[in-house]
Amino acid sequence: MKTNGNRYGTHRVVEPQGVLPQPARVLSNDMSEIWDNEMLIDVIRLNVDSASFHQIKEKLIAQGHKDDLEQAFADHVIDLTTRTGKHKNEDTGSGGMLIGRVAQLGPNFEMNDEVKVGDTVASLVSLSLTPLRVDKVKKVYLDKDQVDIEGQAILFSTGIYAKLPADMDENLALSVLDVAGAPAQVERLAKPGDTVVVLGAGGKSGVLCNAVAKERVGVSGKVIGLVHSARSIEPSLATGCDIVEMADATNAIQIEEIVSRLTDGKMADLVVNVVNVDNTEMGTIMACKDRGIVYFFSMATSFTKAALGAEGIGADVDMILGNGYAHNHAAISLDLLKRNPVLMQLFKDRYTDN
Ligand code: NAP
Repeated sequence: MKTNGNRYGTHRVVEPQGVLPQPARVLSNDMSEIWDNEMLIDVIRLNVDSASFHQIKEKLIAQGHKDDLEQAFADHVIDLTTRTGKHKNEDTGSGGMLIGRVAQLGPNFEMNDEVKVGDTVASLVSLSLTPLRVDKVKKVYLDKDQVDIEGQAILFSTGIYAKLPADMDENLALSVLDVAGAPAQVERLAKPGDTVVVLGAGGKSGVLCNAVAKERVGVSGKVIGLVHSARSIEPSLATGCDIVEMADATNAIQIEEIVSRLTDGKMADLVVNVVNVDNTEMGTIMACKDRGIVYFFSMATSFTKAALGAEGIGADVDMILGNGYAHNHAAISLDLLKRNPVLMQLFKDRYTDN
């Protein structure tokens, strides 16, 4: 094994030199000999983050791949990881995560909590910084944002991961853990009696946020779900929303009008953005009351649009970036699913292969 690897993984940065692995453009995905502070994983499945998956699909369709989208997506995965050594979307900058089996563990890997070779783990650091070699794409799940592959990945010494629970389907756990940061943050931010607006309430992170928001705000609070498609109404109501309306999150004026009507002009204490498209910053900010909290979990969020847009309309709200990590976020999200049969069934229906 190679020695003296950096705990953050800078020893694998190829280009540009001197940066951390996430902002790097190219990483080394040479797995022939690992560093003694790395974990080598035989990858089973990638979960590409929704904003990235959606953007790649749209781009490929625009390039004429509507009828061979699955193959075009597979080719894209191979091309991207071969050129850059990781699956960081070159337009959105975002990644996703993976599940796989531990193939080798360097003796100096720091996050060595009771894991051994052969265990199934989910990476909890982004694919945008994870060295990844893809030998073969076995299947692309266009409806789940997931890709089965043959290949290997590296976790750096500070790379967090979760050992997959033995009593939960691997792909179900992968889907929940992909967005584990969202319910963990909403649990912190929502208070008893609050009015919470969830933009994108019917999506994967949306339904988790609805459930945890309803638990936190209680009977004296209110959870308002805004969804884009009619198919999202029922799951949003079933998972904790008191009211659900269809709306376009890119239409800020429409969002403001709806939330004003539903809150008698008071607006929301907390607005959670879990959509997967661009240009939803202003709708999110305008749904929020003065000195309220806006939580941008969406990877399609632009800091510039949010900051300058809020300034432009004189909105004094606290804006929180959707850090993918919160202490115990994996345990919090898995526990949420286990104690909520409606959520569990919904995830089984949507995200398991059966
Ligand atoms: P998802 O399941 O694909 O859900 C996205 C939702 O966005 C869908 O339910 C969709 O609504 C809604 N939507 C799309 N266009 C809309 C519009 N114009 N107006 C209103 N709603 C709209 O996605 P997810 O997996 O929950 O991920 C949500 C976001 O979190 C994505 O941006 C993803 O990249 C990001 N993410 C962030 C982190 C992090 O660490 N911060 C980690 C993972 C994912 P309908 O279904 O009703 O059409």
